[in-house]
Amino acid sequence: MAKLVAEVILDLSSSYNKHTYSYIVPPELADKVKPGGTVIVPVRAKETLGYVASLKEEAQPDARLKEIAGTVGGAELITPEQLTLSRWVAEHYLCGPNDSLKLVRPGSQRHRLTPWLVYKGQVELDVSDRMLRWVSERSGRVRERELEKEFGRGAGARLSRSGEFRRELTLEGPADKPKLVEFANLVPGETETVRGSKELAILRSLQERSPRATKSLLEECEAARATLRGLARKGLIKLYKEPQERRYDTSFTNPSVKKIVMTTEQNAAIKALTTAIADGENRRFLLEGVTGSGKTEVYMAAATETLVRGRTAIFLVPEIALLPQLAERLALRFGNQVAIVHSALKAGQRADMLRAVAEGRKRIVVGARSALFAPVSDLGLIVVDEEHETSYKQNSAPRYDTRAVARKVAELHNAVVVFGSATPSLETGLMLAGTDAHLRLKERVGEAQFPKVRLIDMRREVGQGNYGVFSRFLAERLRQTLDSGHKAILLMNRRGYAGFSVCRHCGYVPECDNCSISLTYHQSGGRLRCHHCGAAKRVLDVCPKCEKTEWRFPGVGTQRVESELRELLPDTTIVRMDADTTTRQGAHHDRLLEFHEAERAVLLGTQMIAKGLDFPEVTLVGIVNADTALNLPDFRAAERTAQLLIQVSGRSGRGAIPGEVLVQTFSPDNYAVRAAVDGYEGFFAKELAFRRDLDYPPFSTMFNIIFSSRDPRVAERGAEEISKRLRAGLANSARLLGPAPAPIERVKGYYRYHLVITTDNPDAVKRFLRDTPLSVDGGRDLRVIIDVDPVWLL
Ligand code: ADP
Ligand code: ZN
Repeated sequence: MAKLVAEVILDLSSSYNKHTYSYIVPPELADKVKPGGTVIVPVRAKETLGYVASLKEEAQPDARLKEIAGTVGGAELITPEQLTLSRWVAEHYLCGPNDSLKLVRPGSQRHRLTPWLVYKGQVELDVSDRMLRWVSERSGRVRERELEKEFGRGAGARLSRSGEFRRELTLEGPADKPKLVEFANLVPGETETVRGSKELAILRSLQERSPRATKSLLEECEAARATLRGLARKGLIKLYKEPQERRYDTSFTNPSVKKIVMTTEQNAAIKALTTAIADGENRRFLLEGVTGSGKTEVYMAAATETLVRGRTAIFLVPEIALLPQLAERLALRFGNQVAIVHSALKAGQRADMLRAVAEGRKRIVVGARSALFAPVSDLGLIVVDEEHETSYKQNSAPRYDTRAVARKVAELHNAVVVFGSATPSLETGLMLAGTDAHLRLKERVGEAQFPKVRLIDMRREVGQGNYGVFSRFLAERLRQTLDSGHKAILLMNRRGYAGFSVCRHCGYVPECDNCSISLTYHQSGGRLRCHHCGAAKRVLDVCPKCEKTEWRFPGVGTQRVESELRELLPDTTIVRMDADTTTRQGAHHDRLLEFHEAERAVLLGTQMIAKGLDFPEVTLVGIVNADTALNLPDFRAAERTAQLLIQVSGRSGRGAIPGEVLVQTFSPDNYAVRAAVDGYEGFFAKELAFRRDLDYPPFSTMFNIIFSSRDPRVAERGAEEISKRLRAGLANSARLLGPAPAPIERVKGYYRYHLVITTDNPDAVKRFLRDTPLSVDGGRDLRVIIDVDPVWLL
């Protein structure tokens, strides 16, 4: 007889778990086991959690297959699209199915299987027995753990043996129950029955604004709950509970909803997008718009069309710092349909948001990478803003690229996806530039003009004896800008005080004990910190090499810029934004608010301030050192540099007053630095030609295979053996470079080697990588990571 067989993804760590496993669905569970559902299956006689990937009838299933032991209550279903997506991620990025499933089940790691004992209710419970009385006081349903806490180990087994109890498993996590808040809503009707001033006060207050949270209502009217209940009994108000959701409520942009007349360019872009959305087709667009050209307005018009069609839209930003401004603009336009989803939310907040999305109560989802995995149905639009950003690539397993996943999600839902940027990545540019799907906004909107960009040759400054952080010209323009009542933004793309520390006598540079990285000097507490692993130590007194005691602190970081800035500009609010000042939840928002509200202010920060910010009062942008990213040993260094410079330039002159950008550099002739002055288009063409010549992405697919171990010999030997194996199998379909020591040879105590593979036939390479054992004898301490489409090769 045909049997129902389920393919199950096991909730086990990924090394054992590359595949799905088949289990028979016993007839009594047939209507409970569903794709996307959570089940319990035996794995070596142990109860293990699993997720049903698919179901099929099989005429003659393998006789060795075991049966599913049960289904799990309390767990939400995963949507079919989420299931397909997670499988695609596993295949595409070569990770275990459970790793990719975590993307669509955020917080599931914190869920635990909880065994219960449930009274079957066939005989009377003997309440003279202390334990049975305890159980009956709890309606015959108790957690085994609690029972055993009260009555000792084995109590659960005793109950099971009696035959009167059945064992049940549920999944319990911290985020399961939304926090409910009570609201009161006015019901229009006769008010003759109203007695007492408190009742009147409540009704009056509700007439002004309804519905309202009862807690603040009672406080305001100084009334008791009984009064409220009385009104509800009379049918004058309705009391109900709703899940509480977190709100972004302080505003630092101008919240007046001005009536905007779209420009011709904006209208053309909107027309293309809304037509595609109306057709319900899976199409991709590149919206290339210079900074301040009104891209966000275009996205919002597309979102409106999406909502009108009864569908959902997802907005993605590359990092959390950019969320508050966008979320606020969306909330002003779309009210409480907006769900903010990101990984820094507390588990409960996040679960609330996702539940609202799953139930269709919120149809605009905004967030960083993870928002793409929200349980949406009827998705019509995905916006990937600032699509060129490297933070769209996740750098832990699964190492997925948000842009590729967005294309896949859009495909699954027949949705439109828009990649927006002033400086498109070479990947997206190659795919869409010059096609019908390339929408362009070449002009800034309103009165805003392009800022005037100037390069400042720092070699000349040094030649003239200025060793400070600021060229004389930048210092002077900073002062003038603030004196005329405007504000400035400064980019310094390294945190800390100095780049490193060096012995004045022998040139010794202290490195991290765990990583082959020189330690960055941080002024706070006089510490040297590793920017890779976070390790810190006190500044050395004595040089371990020559035993002298004089140190220099060359190289510049944000802290040093801050202190020189304080001297240069007394009585000025200096807001520093870098990874050290924004660790707390909400810190980004608070710092930006501080900058916005101060009379006389400079915003100083790392690349986290480079994009998205829209402050019309900023008329000067200074780039303290344009060369920080240029010399990284990575084939994308030039692209990153050009993008960063253009992005940060775009923060200047977004209002009526023309802006200025000053770029300090030691390489004023470099084509990536010159892109700040000459524009992105020329840079793009040149860079594309380089990549084509070298057959680098986007003209090929790249894999970076990283071998690491605490033992340098294990790392080296593993890298060599496995590379030999891969070379033998892939010589015909790919080019292999290495193995070689990684540019950063040691990280967190691990020695690293890497092998770079480029190919025109990625599927063949993936198949081979999946089927080839990536381990060596005696190499238990060897870690092998496969990074598909890496964004960095460091
Ligand atoms: P981008 O996303 O390209 O940087 P935004 O959409 O944020 O640009 O627009 C920049 C500013 O210009 C915003 O304050 C926005 O409200 C305003 N804006 C956008 N389009 C128009 C328009 N057609 N007319 C006037 N102001 C506009
Ligand atoms: Zn380190």
